[in-house]
Amino acid sequence: MAHLALTGKVLITGDIETVTGLHIGGASAGLDIGGIDNPMIRHPVSREPYIPGSSLRGKMRALLDRHLGKEANTPIRRQPPEVRVHVCQDEAEYAACAVCQVFGVTPGDQRREWTSLKPGRLIVRDVQLANESAEKLRLAKTDMPFAEVKWEAVIDRITSAAVPRQNERVPAGAVFAPFEFVYSLYDLDGAGCQADIDWLRSVFQAMEMLEDDYLGGYGSRGAGKIRFCNLVVTFKPKAYYEGKADLVPLAGRVSMAELRPDEYADRIKASLEG
Ligand SMILES: [Zn+2]
Repeated sequence: MAHLALTGKVLITGDIETVTGLHIGGASAGLDIGGIDNPMIRHPVSREPYIPGSSLRGKMRALLDRHLGKEANTPIRRQPPEVRVHVCQDEAEYAACAVCQVFGVTPGDQRREWTSLKPGRLIVRDVQLANESAEKLRLAKTDMPFAEVKWEAVIDRITSAAVPRQNERVPAGAVFAPFEFVYSLYDLDGAGCQADIDWLRSVFQAMEMLEDDYLGGYGSRGAGKIRFCNLVVTFKPKAYYEGKADLVPLAGRVSMAELRPDEYADRIKASLEG
């Protein structure tokens, strides 16, 4: 029986700022009285838009898949438009695959037998609209609560008629905070967590690629550009949770350009040895 032990957790927190309008789709129209064609996802009680952790995580995984040239071989949605992601099919490939190590694999039939299988290292939490932004949007009396409505013309391919369509978006300049990524380091059967520490770099890489891509819908038409700001990176070794060690601050309120993944890896390793 494999023995899995937690070595520590790296917390990455900060703000997500919308650089262009952001649309993350919610329940489809018609359910909402006075609803529009493409509503956004909102908190059911406060009606404030939020960024689901699953949207952030899914996009980061897809960008890393593509960056590493991994084959998108596993459907995660079968209805059109079908969505596929990469999941390693054999254990040797898994041993070196940042995507499957960081984001995890679904335990398929053959994967249950893998002795080197670890849980995905990365947890991504939902991100709420920051109070200050919520207040600003409330005062701005936007078209919809906390959102602007963008009209677009969709051209009917047969009749060439322009059909207007509405998209609800969080305006540019809104701040969602704090976002929180939790990256766990595990030791499997006493083999240490060196590789887990090195794969942490993939999380920063995916964040950087997301800034140069888009979150949510309508990205090719300008929506969904975001920026990570005020980043705080902290390492909590296992001993911290037992009250026997301090946490290790790695970065305090820095920008993406100021992140130093190599330095953080060295300092995490040093703190575990010390
Ligand atoms: Zn893989």
